[in-house]
Amino acid sequence: SQHELVRVNELIEENLRLAYQEMQARNHGFQATLRTELDESVQEAQLVRTEIGRVLLNLFTNAFHALAARQAQLGADYAPVLHVSSRRVGSQIEIRVRDNGTGMSAAVKQQIFTPFFTTKPTGQGTGLGLSLAHDIVTKGHGGVLQVETEEGNYTEFTLVLPA
Ligand code: ADP
Ligand code: MG
Repeated sequence: SQHELVRVNELIEENLRLAYQEMQARNHGFQATLRTELDESVQEAQLVRTEIGRVLLNLFTNAFHALAARQAQLGADYAPVLHVSSRRVGSQIEIRVRDNGTGMSAAVKQQIFTPFFTTKPTGQGTGLGLSLAHDIVTKGHGGVLQVETEEGNYTEFTLVLPA
C-alpha cells in the first residue's frame, strides 16, 4: 500500500488545527483549551498519511463534540480541555487524546467500534468514524486503538503505532 515516512507530530498538529477550525466554524463561539505535549522522541513512522490523518481528525472532532455537549450541560463555569500527547515507547509510538467532555456510558463504550453506531442526532454523525479508525489502525498499520472513559468526566483514546 502507500506507506511512507511521516513526521507524526506534524500530522497531529495539522489535524488538530483543522478539527478545531472546523468545529469553530460550525459552532460559533466554541472554545477549548488545547494542551499538546508532543515529544521529540517521536520522529518519523511508516504510515499511510491520509489514513492516519483521517483517524486523528476523527478522534479530535469527536472530542470537540463531547466538549461542546458537556458545555451545553454545564454552562459557563465549565472549562473544556483537549489534551493531546505523543511519546515513543520502545519501538512504538503512543498518541493519547483526552477530553474532559461528556464521557460515555458502559453501553455506549461497548459499541463505538461497530459500524454505523452513533449517539449523534440524525444527519450529524455517520457512526463510521471509529469503526473505520479501528480498521485503519489494526488491519492497515498493525497498531492498537483503545479507549478509557468515565461518563460525565472524561474520555481518553490511546493510539499505538509501530515506529
Ligand atoms: P460519529 O462521530 O459519526 O457519531 P464515531 O464512530 O466517530 O461516529 O463515534 C461513535 C460514537 O462514539 C459517537 O456517536 C459517540 O457516542 C461516541 N464517542 C466517540 N468519541 C467520543 C468522545 N471523545 N467522547 C464521548 N463520546 C464519544
Ligand atoms: Mg466521529
